[in-house]
Amino acid sequence: MPAEPFRVLMVDLTRGRGEYINFGDKNEHLGGSGLAAALFAAYADVSAPALAPEQPLIFAIGPLTGCYPLMSKTVCAFKSPYNEQYAESHAGGRLALSLRFAGIDALVIRGRSPVLSALAVGIRRLDFVDVHFLRGFDVFTTGKQLRKLHRSGAGHRSTLRIGPAGENQVAYACINVDTYRHFGRLGSGAVMGAKNLKAIVIDGGKSLPAPAGKDYPDVFKAIYDQVVDSGMMKKYHDLGTPENLLALNELSALPWKNLQSTKEAAIENVSGEAFARDLLLRKAACAGCPVGCIHVGLLREKYAANNDYLYRQVSYDYEPLFADGTMLGITSASGILAVMDEIERQGVDCMSAGVALAWATEAAQKGAIGLAETIVPLAFDDVAGYREAVRHLGNRTNEFYRLLGQGTMVAAAQYKGEDYACVLGQEMSGYATGEVFYISQAMGVRHSHLDSGGYSYDQKHTDKDAVKAIDFLVADEADRVALTSMVSCLFARNVYTPETLGRALSAMGLSGMAENLGKAARNIQKLRWKNKIDCGFKPREVKIPKRFYEVTNWKGQADPAYLEELKTYYASRIEALVSA
Ligand code: SF4
Repeated sequence: MPAEPFRVLMVDLTRGRGEYINFGDKNEHLGGSGLAAALFAAYADVSAPALAPEQPLIFAIGPLTGCYPLMSKTVCAFKSPYNEQYAESHAGGRLALSLRFAGIDALVIRGRSPVLSALAVGIRRLDFVDVHFLRGFDVFTTGKQLRKLHRSGAGHRSTLRIGPAGENQVAYACINVDTYRHFGRLGSGAVMGAKNLKAIVIDGGKSLPAPAGKDYPDVFKAIYDQVVDSGMMKKYHDLGTPENLLALNELSALPWKNLQSTKEAAIENVSGEAFARDLLLRKAACAGCPVGCIHVGLLREKYAANNDYLYRQVSYDYEPLFADGTMLGITSASGILAVMDEIERQGVDCMSAGVALAWATEAAQKGAIGLAETIVPLAFDDVAGYREAVRHLGNRTNEFYRLLGQGTMVAAAQYKGEDYACVLGQEMSGYATGEVFYISQAMGVRHSHLDSGGYSYDQKHTDKDAVKAIDFLVADEADRVALTSMVSCLFARNVYTPETLGRALSAMGLSGMAENLGKAARNIQKLRWKNKIDCGFKPREVKIPKRFYEVTNWKGQADPAYLEELKTYYASRIEALVSA
């Protein structure tokens, strides 16, 4: 059978035009991660800077989007201004369904708009709207204005926008998606800013029939029942990922105060249990998800000028609570929400920003930087100082914040603080679990804790067998690539086993894709690595900062010889993958 291509909308902001093209082969590129990586290989210039206008900003959905529970993500691919390498970021919300209902498998945006613009995309609609009046507006105000500008299609509409950090091209600026979801890490927001694109509105106006296959209702029901009745997803709905705080602190694996320690008694005030008890207001879900893992806390603050109070809703989960909480030594739950609220407003990635400010705090403690750099005094647990610093970070107020906005290691190199910069490819995720996690994040294709279960491997193994550990990471990555090509929420990775994915595809009449799934996922894994290597990534040159060797967890300190063995073998596996 001839290969079925994807329907891709190519937008040229410079000329204010768009056209649909047929691209690729569904059985080979699958969708999501696979489609995004293939589009990047076809349209990116790996030798040009990440923020050059011609670089593509890619959004791709998968073959199961809207057809099964938790098939809710969109993959965003771009050349990262953080490290000038191939980058992929995933977000939920309504975006995937809006693209599906607009009849688009992928959206590719190139060029630079002559004025600050919002791109409005629908079934028979492609508008380039002048929004110069939104310049400098924060994410919340921009969202309100966009909803006024695009009143139609509210239920099927998805809204993406950037804040000041994206406009100012902070290298870890994010794109905010609808409410509470983000394309977070590695600077997709800066790519939008460089394109003079403040917002994208997708209006999914089409209605689609249910899949016709006779097995579809039964397969759907079996998956749905497993999601809601088996208990597999319960932990994500109940306390949610914040339940990790207490457990990791107990293990001495929770980063505190720029990873100066891994366990603190103050956890009682900022645990998942404390948030649920004191601040949890409601739970929300991405479109098409019956789990609802998005925990929304109530932030209640008194106006300085009078006796009135202001109420805000701030979503929280484990990673932001670690990065903007324990990493900054904050010991009150509402204090953490207050810092996260400012980060959300500026449109900067919450994990990178928190870890960057934790480094700056230690640098200030050590006298490497002073008020001339930070403008506001920085001290662990000082919520007001951090809120002010986040505003400076988003606006790149001075040379120090310009450098810090380029990445913690860039500022650390300037101020001689590399030893205590908690950077593993990008600012660390919240797992001081040991050598396998450190290597998996430092060398992983996205430098994300989500590309493989390195943190879980550390907790289950006491041996130091580098070959076994790296073979696990590489195989686990291939399984996750199959999921992210579909495009599943990774919380459902135990529901969507390879067999279940095969059944789900076959029930949709996609048996060719089902049969080719394993092979295609391995090819996509290889293509993602090839994209990264083509952009200049050198796995053998990866460095793990000294702080990761100094800190102690329940196993003691990291073993330098084991880390070196892991690095060398992982580098050889990556090189073999790319050249195979
Ligand atoms: S489990 Fe959470 S992140 Fe995943 S799709 Fe559901 S609501 Fe979204």
